[in-house]
Amino acid sequence: MQNIWVSILTVIIVVSNSVAQKPNKPSSTEIHHNLQKLNFLGTALYIAAHPDDENTRLISYLSNHDKARTVYLSLTRGDGGQNLIGSELRELLGVLRTQELLAARRVDGGEQWFTRANDFGYSKHPKETLKIWDKEEVLSDVVWAIRNLKPDVIINRFDHRTAGTTHGHHTSSAMLSMEAFDLANDASAYPEQLELTSTWQPKRAFFNTSWWFYGSQENFEKADKSNLIKLDVGVYYPELGLSNNEIASIASSQHLCQGFGRLTARGSQDEYVELLKGDLPKSANLFEGINTTWSRIKDGKAIGDILYAVEENFNFSNPSKHIPELLQAYQLLQKVDDKHWKTLKSEELKALILDCAGLYLEANALSASTTVENKVELSIEAVNRSAANIVLREIKISGTDSTHSADKNLENNKKEELKLTFMVPSTKTNSGPYWLNESGSLGMYTVKNQKMIGKAETPNAFNAIFTLDFDGIEIEFEKPIIHRYSKPEKGELYEPFVVLPEVTTSIKDKVLIFSDAKTKNVTVSIKAGKNNVQGKIGLEHPKGWNVVPNKIDFSILQKGQEQSVTFKVTPPSNDSEGKISPFVAIGNKTYTKELIEIDYDHIPKQSVLLPSETKVVRMNIQKTGEHIGYIMGAGDKVPESLKQIGYQVHLIDPDAIKKGQLEKYDAIVVGIRAYNKVDALKFKQPILFDYVKNGGNLIVQYNTAGRWSKQFENIAPFDLTLSRNRVTDETAKVKIIAQDHSLINFPNSIAERDFDGWVQERGLYFPKEWSEEFTPILSMGDEGEKPTEGSLLVAPYGEGHYIYTGLSFFRELPAGVSGAYKLFANMLSIGKSEVKIETNVKG
Ligand SMILES: [Zn+2]
Repeated sequence: MQNIWVSILTVIIVVSNSVAQKPNKPSSTEIHHNLQKLNFLGTALYIAAHPDDENTRLISYLSNHDKARTVYLSLTRGDGGQNLIGSELRELLGVLRTQELLAARRVDGGEQWFTRANDFGYSKHPKETLKIWDKEEVLSDVVWAIRNLKPDVIINRFDHRTAGTTHGHHTSSAMLSMEAFDLANDASAYPEQLELTSTWQPKRAFFNTSWWFYGSQENFEKADKSNLIKLDVGVYYPELGLSNNEIASIASSQHLCQGFGRLTARGSQDEYVELLKGDLPKSANLFEGINTTWSRIKDGKAIGDILYAVEENFNFSNPSKHIPELLQAYQLLQKVDDKHWKTLKSEELKALILDCAGLYLEANALSASTTVENKVELSIEAVNRSAANIVLREIKISGTDSTHSADKNLENNKKEELKLTFMVPSTKTNSGPYWLNESGSLGMYTVKNQKMIGKAETPNAFNAIFTLDFDGIEIEFEKPIIHRYSKPEKGELYEPFVVLPEVTTSIKDKVLIFSDAKTKNVTVSIKAGKNNVQGKIGLEHPKGWNVVPNKIDFSILQKGQEQSVTFKVTPPSNDSEGKISPFVAIGNKTYTKELIEIDYDHIPKQSVLLPSETKVVRMNIQKTGEHIGYIMGAGDKVPESLKQIGYQVHLIDPDAIKKGQLEKYDAIVVGIRAYNKVDALKFKQPILFDYVKNGGNLIVQYNTAGRWSKQFENIAPFDLTLSRNRVTDETAKVKIIAQDHSLINFPNSIAERDFDGWVQERGLYFPKEWSEEFTPILSMGDEGEKPTEGSLLVAPYGEGHYIYTGLSFFRELPAGVSGAYKLFANMLSIGKSEVKIETNVKG
């Protein structure tokens, strides 16, 4: 049983220690707030599907008003969405969003958990969701979370009774929560978990409802609320100097990659929860009737007697006066049998002791990264800013046998500095998100170690364990080893200290399209993880492809430096696709990973290791025209993809669009959500239409319906009504309904097999109505739904053509889907066939 408590302990340490790697330095009112939380023994678990689903108002309320341990279990890491602040997508976006959730929890005081479910994209029905996720595995993870966290109350963000009316992931999260509520206490369910944890029965389950779920405010006002509890989530916390809803807005503003930056809100605000299981509280206290005092645990009363008195008589001008009482409570707590609460509350109490003493402990590595079997130099800082008697006995490094005795008396406000070194063991694994270590399926990440499941992130590479002696009472404090430095334009910065491979490689383009049989130069960048790296690099490639040379020698002197080598890659003459992957040999070791760093101001820097590889596709593709003008919208990689098949792509600044200057382009493509995102386009639309009238070709990719239509009406030269229609199944059958249209025939002939191998979805926000000038080209629909014909619409206008498409080219082209390239080449070529015929006639 020992191990599980160690593992839970690690989870807590991860949550509290990763504080953006920046140490928390609470003021005395914040210390008092933490003391109030220490004195509340109750837990709430909030369950939803994605980063940003969580209602931060309620999480903050439970954490800061009720003072409960409050955990948000997000079933996924949000890998399937889009990114408004950078280029990270898929698993890298999941890493970024995981960190944004952790940043939100640092603000609202909650903790963060996950399951192994992968956010594979939009899903219309929980039936589809639970088929793509492994339902049993996700349910097992929710049960595991409940058994480990032991929540008194569970709150669902979504309604489990409304399948098919919202995102299938949302309904699934609520359905799984309801099932897990009953299973967690059933020893016959997932019995293997019980070797590591114990069964648990939560007392109540709620649904965090609102008027939105009733269709309108009016409906909600009329609704029977006898089963609902109303909470005022706008309460003010004088100790924090913030209202609950202010904290909530700051927390949700951490979801920057989803564009959630928002104004803060203040003032009284109602929030509703509907009782689903258990008995209805008579007051607005979700924990009513549950013992949340220290007497909840056997032998806890004596601890409570001490700590409630400290809370009552707290010395705000000198919190260190309370250290003797806190130490006494700590000693009593070590004798308690209840391991769950003992572990949790010991960590909180230890943090409180440090904070009351103003005790600053830091283990700073001189470099931000290391490799195995390497010596790490550390600079240790310890300063006690109180009159308490504290001796620093020793410092150990976790995961090593490195121990350094210090025996330094930490005098009031006298900074002690120590230099020490340790060796990274040869068995140490590289840093990086644990859920990406093995390849998963479309719907699930693979995590074999049960103890890691649920954890928001991989534990720190190394912790420094400080043994402190408080007047004869020895306590160990773990601090992550970090890298602290400063930048003139940013000030002081903290970075996680990571273990990386000796060498990593990368090819800049993740997809290389060979539209003819010509050889391409492929450059591989080699990055050294330590000084003096020499070896050989080669390129694995699919059968039929040719790579020259076979091996290239390289030598890099300095850690962090990069060297580029170039291979000549020749495709076969017929269609073919596969992967090329660099592999490096140094002695008898091989290295095959790419290092991707995710670095934003609102999260700690992330070092992600993924297989180093590039998809190569040989496709015979015909095209006409050469110069494409591209107006960027919310951001996509379509321009790079078009360049790969030989187009000259020119980015057009929407503000600079002038009449008569567009005619040089063979086609103009408008990037995704441009009309939602780029205000200037509103005023430039007549110029774009004139360009079409004069023989141009304008291709508009998807915009979202609703918000957009309020901005202006004329997205097309003819009537066109966008909708929220989408086809989410990337394998949904596609029927070509305009078989003779040039979009299907020139210069590439398109067949239904060109819709094989598409990724994530077919398309989104398809128009639902259009004027008769438009010709619909394709028909498609998700299973059980009426097929829609709005995915690709084309209309002649004047001498030119206007095309509107909600097909997900922004996903398919960067993924190297050859059918999507052919269709896009045809869209760019429309009108050129007629020109050819004309020329022939004249000639
Ligand atoms: Zn969601």
